[in-house]
Amino acid sequence: MSQRQDLLNAYEDLTPILLDEIRRLGRELEGLRVLHVNSTAKGGGVAEMLAWLIPALEEAGIQAEWHVLEGSDSFFHMTKKLHNALQGRNHPPSEEEWNAYFNQLADEARLIPRDAHIIIFHDPQTLGLAHFLPKENQAWAWRLHIDTTTADEETLQRVLTLIPPMDMLILTLPAYGIPFKPTRKPIRYIQPAIDAYSRKNRPLLEGEAEKILGRYGLTPGYALQVSRFDPWKGFDQVIEAWRMVRQRIPLQLVLVGSAADDDPEGQEVLEEVKRLVKDDPDVTIITEHDDLLVNVLQRHACCVYQLSQREGFGLTVTEAMWKEKPVIGGPAEGIRAQIKHGQTGFIARNPGEAAAYTLELFHDPALRERIGRAAHEHVRQQYLLPRLVRDHLLLYKELLTRREEARAQTV
Ligand code: UDP
Repeated sequence: MSQRQDLLNAYEDLTPILLDEIRRLGRELEGLRVLHVNSTAKGGGVAEMLAWLIPALEEAGIQAEWHVLEGSDSFFHMTKKLHNALQGRNHPPSEEEWNAYFNQLADEARLIPRDAHIIIFHDPQTLGLAHFLPKENQAWAWRLHIDTTTADEETLQRVLTLIPPMDMLILTLPAYGIPFKPTRKPIRYIQPAIDAYSRKNRPLLEGEAEKILGRYGLTPGYALQVSRFDPWKGFDQVIEAWRMVRQRIPLQLVLVGSAADDDPEGQEVLEEVKRLVKDDPDVTIITEHDDLLVNVLQRHACCVYQLSQREGFGLTVTEAMWKEKPVIGGPAEGIRAQIKHGQTGFIARNPGEAAAYTLELFHDPALRERIGRAAHEHVRQQYLLPRLVRDHLLLYKELLTRREEARAQTV
């Protein structure tokens, strides 16, 4: 978790109007207790954001708490299947797996702190918890971070049966809301954000880059992808695109990845990536998990790939854009939401297109600079920490109002 003080005040120069709004909302919501529940403390975008969102909310004046499920191997195996099925893979969890999911959540429910006014349940891993908790005048919202545009129908129907206890659904993009319309629950859309001053995104200090690049024998100007080793992230597409490029220019490829605590597929995908790379000396695979390492590598790339086939949002895209890097993204919904093709990056529909954009960027430093600057400005306006804090405070305010209205109706 972030230990920094003054998370919000640091943005005085970058987003002053948002800070005023946050302070006003913070005063209105003073004394509010909000609990966020998810299933991993490390690895992946949700943990990345909660690590600063919780202290930033505290700084805004409310009491925020983060609870991580304990989980178990079989539970995470099931929830990864559930996650994949909601993202469009045709392998729904079995009845037995659903039973194991509920058994685990029944145990976990006993550990959930009870004194919050609002609980935000993150992702499918935590959704079923609601069935084992007394609601006691709380407001509950389910925050789903993934792309559900092609969800497996059987799994979706099952998930819809778990939504009734929720007061609201929070999704990333309007396209993800369509399958949830039948629930008739209010849906709000909130896009993620990054902390510009974290170890992963802050400006580098003298000597930091040399040390890390030297450790891996890297020279600036490589192509890069940073992602969990996950089947949706398009590592195979990256390697194919890079092979096409490599026939024309001497470009190195760096692949950085690690597995989140709740992600059992990581090792399998890493083995597949190694098989595709075939010990090519121009490809460096890094499995060390270190925010400063990601920072250094993103800042010294020639271009950054994120050729995901599905991506709820893709913080790796935002992070690289903030560092003024041209990102070549896959056609996934979350990536298309961030990149304006040809202006703040490129969208490649296949490895051939990704290779063509790589060559264009490699040969044209002015293009790299123009796209990089536009990308940075776009992130400054849309995707920095204060905007997400403000959106959360507005959300809590609305949840409280709805709770009061519901209470008034029952009296
Ligand atoms: N990440 C990292 N090291 C890795 C792989 C990923 O620090 O080896 C971070 C990455 O920088 C980003 C987050 O994990 O902050 C991934 O979030 P994203 O939204 O891109 O994808 P998710 O993993 O949530 O699907």
